[in-house]
Amino acid sequence: MKSDKNKIAIVTGGGSGIGLAIAEKFVQNKITVIIIGRDQVKLETAKNKLGELCIPVAFDLDNLSSVPELINDLIKKHKKIDILVNNAGINLKKEFTEVTDEEFQRIMHTNVTAMFALSREVVKCMIKNGSGSIINISSMASQYGIPKVIAYSASKAAIEGMTRAMAVELSPKGIRVNCIAPGFIATEMSAKALNNDKERKDKVMSRTPMGALGMPADIGDAAVFLASAASAYITGVVLPVDGGNSVGF
Ligand code: NDP
Repeated sequence: MKSDKNKIAIVTGGGSGIGLAIAEKFVQNKITVIIIGRDQVKLETAKNKLGELCIPVAFDLDNLSSVPELINDLIKKHKKIDILVNNAGINLKKEFTEVTDEEFQRIMHTNVTAMFALSREVVKCMIKNGSGSIINISSMASQYGIPKVIAYSASKAAIEGMTRAMAVELSPKGIRVNCIAPGFIATEMSAKALNNDKERKDKVMSRTPMGALGMPADIGDAAVFLASAASAYITGVVLPVDGGNSVGF
């Protein structure tokens, strides 16, 4: 990676799964990574694994009114934020007619509104520096229809739309905004959706040409690329990292 020394990144949901793998790849590339999550134990375990370049911050992103203070504090401590990975997300697998308004709102709140509020505050700092890279995480749920994940699908489609809107508005200010659409990746979240649902798992595998679930590190590698100078002329794209699942027959 060229000219990526002394970079500071925020990875939301960096204490587990895909976020942890992204944080690990960043640390391997000498990027200081602030990982944000609600579960202090998960964060401390991640810190012990990743070492001194990893800074755990326990914070519930649903708490929108405290987001400006969080970012101000982080900027006071670290001076700048070069990279933001909006990875934190929640899912709900339930029949369409069973989903309550509150459940729908809860998914949208964490996956979309909190992602917006955090990005807005980070972007204020990136604009001052005249540079930045933002990476949003969507899903196959925004590439094609998946049953029983209505709120999640709405939230991930919103993230792809926001990626394009942010890219056109912020790229002239030096901030690149891209999105990774992971296929089915072996984490706790996908285990909940696929284990005990053989039909769904078979369907996933039958349309994944590479014939296996992805690993969190596969998303980590893509994030390193989109965060680095190696992708300096790339903005507004949605990059599937999915073993071919989104084009699978
Ligand atoms: P995990 O459940 O392991 O990770 C989700 C992370 O988000 C956790 O670390 C959690 O931390 C954090 N998080 C959730 N809500 C909040 C909140 N309110 N405030 C702060 N942190 C929060 O799942 P994955 O690693 O699988 O998922 C990561 C992202 O990748 C998600 O956006 C997901 O939609 C997306 N994705 C995953 C796929 C897969 O196959 N696994 C496929 C496509 C997309 P804590 O519990 O500490 O709060």
